[in-house]
Amino acid sequence: MKVKMILPALTEATSPFFRPAHLAPDDEIDLQDEHVERLNTDDEPDLVIIQAYITSAYRAYALADHYRQRGAYVCLGGLHVTSLPQEAALHADTIFLGPGDDTFPQFLCDLRAGQPRKSYTAPAHRSIEHIPPIRRELIKRNLYLVPNSIVVSRGCPHQCNFCYKNAFFEGGNSFYVQRVDAALAEIERLPGQHLYFLDDHLFGNARFAEGLFEGMRGMRRLWQAAGTVQSVLKPGLVEKAAASGLRSLFVGFETLSPENLRASLKYQNLHKDYTAAIRRLHANGVMVNGSFVFGMDGDDATVFDRTVEWAV
Ligand code: SF4
Repeated sequence: MKVKMILPALTEATSPFFRPAHLAPDDEIDLQDEHVERLNTDDEPDLVIIQAYITSAYRAYALADHYRQRGAYVCLGGLHVTSLPQEAALHADTIFLGPGDDTFPQFLCDLRAGQPRKSYTAPAHRSIEHIPPIRRELIKRNLYLVPNSIVVSRGCPHQCNFCYKNAFFEGGNSFYVQRVDAALAEIERLPGQHLYFLDDHLFGNARFAEGLFEGMRGMRRLWQAAGTVQSVLKPGLVEKAAASGLRSLFVGFETLSPENLRASLKYQNLHKDYTAAIRRLHANGVMVNGSFVFGMDGDDATVFDRTVEWAV
């Protein structure tokens, strides 16, 4: 079977829908990321799998329509498809709702048996404990500034109501991690020194994070990731991360207003000392990549100046 996988947006080519490890050894796979290469749409694959974000949805639908006209079996999945399944279903033979780690292998079995379903929804119990290694040889590393992106968990333990998380993981567990030894083995397979963890909250399971950081010591890696103010203030965790090579952390400060934090259910930031978190990161040689949300209900026109005054 000739299989084509297309990412019309973003560079997260290692996300759940891009785990071609489940395909058969004799399947011929072409993985294309339009952010870094011109798509070849003059081919005739048997199966086309497209991941759609809201920013790329129309492009994804146009590609899906194009390949269906050519007789390919077309699948759509991802954040936008999960949010608007009826819309996406008009452009696909099969859609995937929620994370695809469990449903994508099932779909391939059904397709080979000649009985693919129109829609696959992630089961209530999800796990990435036994996922196969990522087929990284399919990623054109030379096209990326940071080719070593890696994801060792899914979702996040928190419930901020402006986040994609609750909608995407609806109906099942929304935060789960790989086994530490499997995550370390995946890191070992990556050439070069720099790693970019794309996990929503790498520090979200402290036991897993400590095991990971412990195992990474001595690997001589430099890496960046995302974590919360709360996890930065947790004694010992950032120190272990920095000792294993953490050099930059994306931190969701979001707002300086306690009312906004309460209204957006971002309770983990309430009554936390943002300045102490920044000092702690800097003291450990970690750059802060701060994230802010503007336009919350409690904001007014002064929010921009006040935030810049505090942050810069
Ligand atoms: S902490 Fe970040 S990833 Fe987790 S729910 Fe909140 S915004 Fe989303």
